[in-house]
Amino acid sequence: MKLKETSVNIPLIEEVNELNGFTVEEIGDNHLFTSWDTPMREDAFKLDDETKIELIGKHFTDIMQILGLDLEDDSLKGTPNRVAKMYVQEIFSGLNPANMPKVALFDNKYKYNEMLVEKDITLYSNCEHHFVPIVGRAHVAYLSSGKVIGLSKINRIVQHFSKRPQVQERLTVQIANHLKEILDTDSVAVIIDAKHMCVSSRGVEDSTSSTVTASYSGRFKEDATKSEFLKHVYHA
Ligand SMILES: [Zn+2]
Repeated sequence: MKLKETSVNIPLIEEVNELNGFTVEEIGDNHLFTSWDTPMREDAFKLDDETKIELIGKHFTDIMQILGLDLEDDSLKGTPNRVAKMYVQEIFSGLNPANMPKVALFDNKYKYNEMLVEKDITLYSNCEHHFVPIVGRAHVAYLSSGKVIGLSKINRIVQHFSKRPQVQERLTVQIANHLKEILDTDSVAVIIDAKHMCVSSRGVEDSTSSTVTASYSGRFKEDATKSEFLKHVYHA
């Protein structure tokens, strides 16, 4: 297996395996993960989207045929191409950095130095271990360093990172890191509360539990700031 560089100081995949002694199956079955960056190949964007759709369509045809489905049936005939288009253009379009939302920054003219909270952002992602949906909400806040972004851009950034095969912890951190970078502030908070279809519709078949992950940095590490944020999110 190839060594993978990561942007933060966490163990490389081989070290994770060696340190913890988990097998690849155990990592996936338990929704563990090995890097804060989405593990990508170096040649990830050598193929254009059209070619990717064609190839995925062919392979999805194979999957359906192996399952015993009759692709001569008019209802199933268009499925491989439809799935391929959905993967490349919609639910996994966030893998391509070219699709990152363009964000215009505005000067914080009115010196609004209070917390800005965007809550209940609808979130649809997919589990990278099972390729089934993760559905939930994201709550995001920041304290301006002098720059602000349009509110809808926060939703778009959440959507962008959600449109990847994901683990919830990584999704939370990727959204937080990107906001910190573009807003030029350390004071960012992200909470994600989501249900995983791989937990509710299969495996342990628990349909009531949800998973909450959070990332607090800068002033959100201070109790007063954090509790103000939580009050906005949960008691407003
Ligand atoms: Zn899963």
